Amino acid sequence: MYILGIETSCDETAASVVKNGHEIVSNVVASQIQSQQRFGGVVPEIASRHHVEQITLVIEEALAKAELSPSDLDAVAVTEGPGLVGALLIGINAAKAFAFANGLPIIGVHHIAGHIYANQLMQPMEFPLLALIVSGGHTELVLMENHGSFKLIGETRDDAAGEAYDKVARVLGLPYPGGPHIDKLALGSEEAVDFPRAWLEPDSYDFSFSGLKSAVINYKHNLEQKGGEVNPAHVAAGFQQSVVEVLTDKTLRAAKEYGVKQVIAAGGVAANKGLRASLDAVFEKEGIPFYVPPIYLCTDNAAMIAAAGSSMFESGKRGSMEMNGRPGMELASWNE
Ligand code: ATP
Ligand code: FE
Ligand code: MG
Repeated sequence: MYILGIETSCDETAASVVKNGHEIVSNVVASQIQSQQRFGGVVPEIASRHHVEQITLVIEEALAKAELSPSDLDAVAVTEGPGLVGALLIGINAAKAFAFANGLPIIGVHHIAGHIYANQLMQPMEFPLLALIVSGGHTELVLMENHGSFKLIGETRDDAAGEAYDKVARVLGLPYPGGPHIDKLALGSEEAVDFPRAWLEPDSYDFSFSGLKSAVINYKHNLEQKGGEVNPAHVAAGFQQSVVEVLTDKTLRAAKEYGVKQVIAAGGVAANKGLRASLDAVFEKEGIPFYVPPIYLCTDNAAMIAAAGSSMFESGKRGSMEMNGRPGMELASWNE
């Protein structure tokens, strides 16, 4: 079974061919980070224009690298949402045209299901499974009792973890996207500013990062008022410690409560070295298998969309040619 995956929900134009749901045959990503960097974030119109320029080339390259022709494929899987509507539509229209021209079924994939299924490209999933999703737009704990079954047990009440990273990086004058820069500074720092932890109610699996972001801004402001100078590495280290401690603690508590057989991390912030080390250590101690995909599968890519699409395809799900971009799409179970 060969599935072509297409991803254009944000600022990566990506296409990939995945075999049997877990084997990457080709994986092409055209990133716009360089052109978006000038604006310190993603400008939707610019993102759409890049997708238009890149999409055909990226799909052709994915097929060429896989040494396959369209007739070898079984289906086309495309990110249906959530994301920027203009960006989503370019991937969806390309997928529809490709599917129609080649007589293939089309499958609409939830972007976050894709981030979770990036793990399926590394090792088989075992259920019940707990997924910590930490990305640019999401921070969630999701319990999976089977393939295609998603139960949201906690989520952010304000900013996503990646959003907090990017905003704090901006305060510190670091380039976009800020996550990798803060990570690097934090790991090289011997001192850390003490910032608060947002635990919320004792039994809550929800998250909150906007207070931490404000604490960083206030710290900088107060120090500068007194004529002091901020040490970005100390701030980065303190910020990262607060984020990592809360994410690790809540993930561990949920894993124990639900008696899961496997814990996985997913999304761009799962590329964070401090977070990976912390989760590795606690789950090693707890004796629960913990996995996180390599960095190139944590950030946006189409292999993860093809992997999730393969699982949907196997359970009989098919999309239609009426498919539209769904910017606010909810993560719903597909095996019910
Ligand atoms: P979503 O998946 O929620 O729609 P998105 O696709 O924009 O959002 P991703 O591409 O999954 O998000 O992740 C991008 C985010 O990951 C950015 O906020 C970036 O700063 C963050 N990130 C990337 N590498 C690291 C790192 N090493 N440490 C912390 N954050 C990181
Ligand atoms: Fe993403
Ligand atoms: Mg992205």
